[in-house]
Amino acid sequence: DILPIRRALLSVSDKTGLIALARALAAQGAELLSTGGSAKALRDAGLPVTEVSDHTGFPEILDGRVKTLVPQIHGGILGRRDLPEHLAQMEQHKIAPIDLVCVNLYPFEATVASGADAEDCIENIDIGGPALIRAAAKNHQHVAILTDPSQYEAVIDSLKALKGTTIADRRAWAGAAYARTAAYDAAIAAWFARERGDALPARLAMVGTRAEALRYGENPHQSAAFYTDGTNRPGIATARQIQGKSLSYNNLNDTDAAFEAVAEFTRPAVVIVKHANPCGVAEADDLATAWDLALRCDPVSAFGGIVAVNRILDEAAAIRIARIFTEVIVAPDATEEAKAVLSAKKNLRLLLTGGLPDPAQPGVVVKSVAGGFLAQTRDDGRATSFKVVTRRAPTEKELADLQLAFRVAKHVKSNAIVYVKDGATVGIGAGQMSRVDSARIAASKSAEAAQAAGIDQPLTTNSVVASDAFFPFADGLEVAIAAGATAVIQPGGSIRDNEVIAAADKAGVAMVFTGMRHFRH
Ligand code: 5GP
Repeated sequence: DILPIRRALLSVSDKTGLIALARALAAQGAELLSTGGSAKALRDAGLPVTEVSDHTGFPEILDGRVKTLVPQIHGGILGRRDLPEHLAQMEQHKIAPIDLVCVNLYPFEATVASGADAEDCIENIDIGGPALIRAAAKNHQHVAILTDPSQYEAVIDSLKALKGTTIADRRAWAGAAYARTAAYDAAIAAWFARERGDALPARLAMVGTRAEALRYGENPHQSAAFYTDGTNRPGIATARQIQGKSLSYNNLNDTDAAFEAVAEFTRPAVVIVKHANPCGVAEADDLATAWDLALRCDPVSAFGGIVAVNRILDEAAAIRIARIFTEVIVAPDATEEAKAVLSAKKNLRLLLTGGLPDPAQPGVVVKSVAGGFLAQTRDDGRATSFKVVTRRAPTEKELADLQLAFRVAKHVKSNAIVYVKDGATVGIGAGQMSRVDSARIAASKSAEAAQAAGIDQPLTTNSVVASDAFFPFADGLEVAIAAGATAVIQPGGSIRDNEVIAAADKAGVAMVFTGMRHFRH
């Protein structure tokens, strides 16, 4: 099953590595067939090449829309070498067998990403390329199919060592080939959906490219990999790892949560995440101050956490963050001084993403369920209405803290209760099955944090509080008031809103309704 190559068809948009591959093929005695641009590149490198149009006697037409879509090419690829009838028909129609096909496609994804107009995008939908790839992959028993320059080196080695390709390699390349055409068509389908403003079309094609195989998943007995979707949203997909050991599945999940949260803030901000939930968030005039405030919220949980910042990480912040054990720091960028400080911490991973994600950017998120997956548009909502429902209106300072608290609550698993004071969280209750428990847990953790910091009253004293969804009863609110909250933000909309408003009025607490909920499950 070692297959020598008599004839190879090379038709590539990305010419990377083409010449080296062609040299190895020519050295092994293969005839090189090629389309216009690829043929020129080969001729320029001094390689003997036959243009497909000369081979078939039919010119490239329609601005290249039809180059290789002819029986001489597809017959040469698809004919079975083990069936006498196939060989006889090929002979009869003067179809020469093609044993290796190397194609990479018109850069549709890159064209879309560059913001090109619709006509340009459509012209970059490759037709003949996917046809060649699918044909060669189908006949992998007799034909090798290469779709990515990263595969060339293995082929060159195989040609040198074995004077051909092995069936095991050809099978692997065939699988990769169909994954490539599937991803390509998925990108085209997604583009059509976006053009129509239909984020969730009747058929949702989502295919990722494996960017990294991970050591394991959420647990050691689960396999895992990180796939990118080609949108290049700034974050873990664009991150450059400066130092530290490789990232785990849980690290990536937490880093993503932290970075998406920190991108919500305009002033210098720090988010510390543990198990996908923020355990400290603060905004300040500089990152170092924001770090101190974020850490104060829950220093016990922050140990071994993931830290995200929304500014270039500077030396002062790096020095302070480096004082406690941190798994990952993610930032848009870092100064050389900050990098030097962190380089002493060998196990700390530093990720630089080159930018911040836009929280308002539309997108689709999925969750797998038995037999399929649930898809929804991203929670890109931001409350803009703050309707005062109590006798007392919040002060300006309370309102600023309320808005921050609500923005944090959006990134905390439901039921989420977030206490904030002076631009920093002072208590976060996450993921409880009852809202009153979230309010209680946040308050009691805050009391512990105050004790640890040597402060003689709970951090929640004179704080404000946010709830990601309405209070179904007054009890959750009463817990928050008892903890020291003076103002409340919540969506409103419970049938018992009146009871909840009455409880706030009774305590002289100000409350605003946003009309927007931020469940996160
Ligand atoms: P070249 O630069 O060699 O002129 O063109 C290479 C590109 O043409 C490759 O990306 C290949 O997938 C694509 N291609 C090959 N045959 C056809 C065809 O018949 N129609 C279209 N639209 N593209 C083709």
